[in-house]
Amino acid sequence: MQLDASASQIEAVCIAVREQGLDPLVLPGEDRVAIGIPAVVGQDDRPRLEALFSSLDGVSKVTQVSRPYKLASLEFQRQKTTVTVGEASFGPGSFSVMGGPCSIESYKQLSECASLVKAAGCTMLRGGAFKPRTSPYSFQGLAEEGLKIMQTVGRENGIATITEVMSADMVGLVAGYVDMLQIGARSMQNFPLLVEAGRSGKPVLLKRGPAATIDEFLLAAEYVLNQGNPNVVLCERGVIPLDRAYVRNTFDIGAIPVLLEHTHLPVIADPSHGIGVARYVEPMALAAVAAGANGLMIEMHPNPKVALSDGSQALGPTQFAHLMSRVNVLRSGFEF
Ligand code: PEP
Ligand code: MN
Repeated sequence: MQLDASASQIEAVCIAVREQGLDPLVLPGEDRVAIGIPAVVGQDDRPRLEALFSSLDGVSKVTQVSRPYKLASLEFQRQKTTVTVGEASFGPGSFSVMGGPCSIESYKQLSECASLVKAAGCTMLRGGAFKPRTSPYSFQGLAEEGLKIMQTVGRENGIATITEVMSADMVGLVAGYVDMLQIGARSMQNFPLLVEAGRSGKPVLLKRGPAATIDEFLLAAEYVLNQGNPNVVLCERGVIPLDRAYVRNTFDIGAIPVLLEHTHLPVIADPSHGIGVARYVEPMALAAVAAGANGLMIEMHPNPKVALSDGSQALGPTQFAHLMSRVNVLRSGFEF
């Protein structure tokens, strides 16, 4: 719509769209309103509709968007989204790090993690209570007991918390204990879960599936946004590798600038799962920062050798502090 389009002109366009049997989506922006029309229209019908809608009062231009996602698209929402969780903030010009163990193992372990990550400059504590494991015989997490530990430790240390929720029916329970919900890579296309997370009122971290395309990733985010929840952060966490002899996943650094160009949502990186080998995590974290990531998620453990899950990619306290200081040096040298 034109900059000065009136509410009645916007409504008139919506009516015209509905008269064509289509469903308009009004997207208020910083300076103007855009009206999205889902692409159920055949190629042949497009020129006619383009001419029809262009002729309406208040319309600035009609463009065809080739991307299948709308709410997540930067084309529809020109202003970048910043998601704030406690003292953490993800968006243009704001950068935060989530640190913590793969799994919550005990109060003592998580409490140690919280003071270490906070001292190193993190503003969010991560840790899984429900763990999606490749084998059903591996440690599955402490479940609600873990959530309680997370809530207590988060409060005691004054740090925002994030944990994974694996199914739609668990969203209410998990949302009662933490500040942000994580949807794991294996659940990226669990649509009922995306819908419930969208309704939860909590900010959502959506991890990219290990074989998901950029379009699939942004369409998954669209499910959460579509429930009226604008607080979605995307996380690149590696894709299926060609060679598992050396790395667990291939960290798709290229996805970061690509996503930042096409979506208004913040994009963070998880180089821990992204490469899956502790000694490569720091270089990958620095690469993600250089690529423009709005934040990081890093797995650490007071003693990685005894970790109940993902010990081989967890950083110990010294390695973690080293990574954080180098990230700060890198960030202070650039305008992001
Ligand atoms: C995790 O963050 O612990 C996790 C299981 O990550 P992902 O879903 O990316 O594998
Ligand atoms: Mn993990």
